[in-house]
Amino acid sequence: MTFCVLRRSRSFASKLLLTAAAALSVTPRVTMAELCTDGGKCNDEVEKAKLAAEAAEKYKPEDSIFMKIIRKEIPADIVYEDDKAVAFRDVNPVAPKHILVIPRKPLMQLSSSTEEDIPLLGHLMWVAKSVAEKENLNESGYRLVINNGRDAAQSVYHLHIHILGGRQMSWPPG
Ligand SMILES: [Zn+2]
Repeated sequence: MTFCVLRRSRSFASKLLLTAAAALSVTPRVTMAELCTDGGKCNDEVEKAKLAAEAAEKYKPEDSIFMKIIRKEIPADIVYEDDKAVAFRDVNPVAPKHILVIPRKPLMQLSSSTEEDIPLLGHLMWVAKSVAEKENLNESGYRLVINNGRDAAQSVYHLHIHILGGRQMSWPPG
């Protein structure tokens, strides 16, 4: 292989490496700056989301960071759990209150749910509502967000509802 070919392929190779790294752990941290307004950071997060989307094609749902939290293999600040759902604080909060509600079932995203998941989807909304109430967000208000796929900057391929509260939100989201 010539030097010229090596140079041309370098950025592709480094992108492949990043994608492979993402595929192995599917985002090593529970970091989702999906609602960021800071341009530079946001672009970085959007790029990471794109790589996560590519990695998701080769991804095993049972290996995701969220499944490890469900199995208690890695610590998380769990605020609620039952036989179908778990809720825990996002380690990289984008609001004073930032909690994720996830199903125990490894559903990759909302668009991969089927009719048999209708009761589960309803349950997740109910859990989000109950957790928000427990966090004293009823009076001030809160926002629920589901990011689905690359354009929405979904960064972990396990369905999750973000509960965001404790500050004034803007509209439309970025
Ligand atoms: Zn998310």
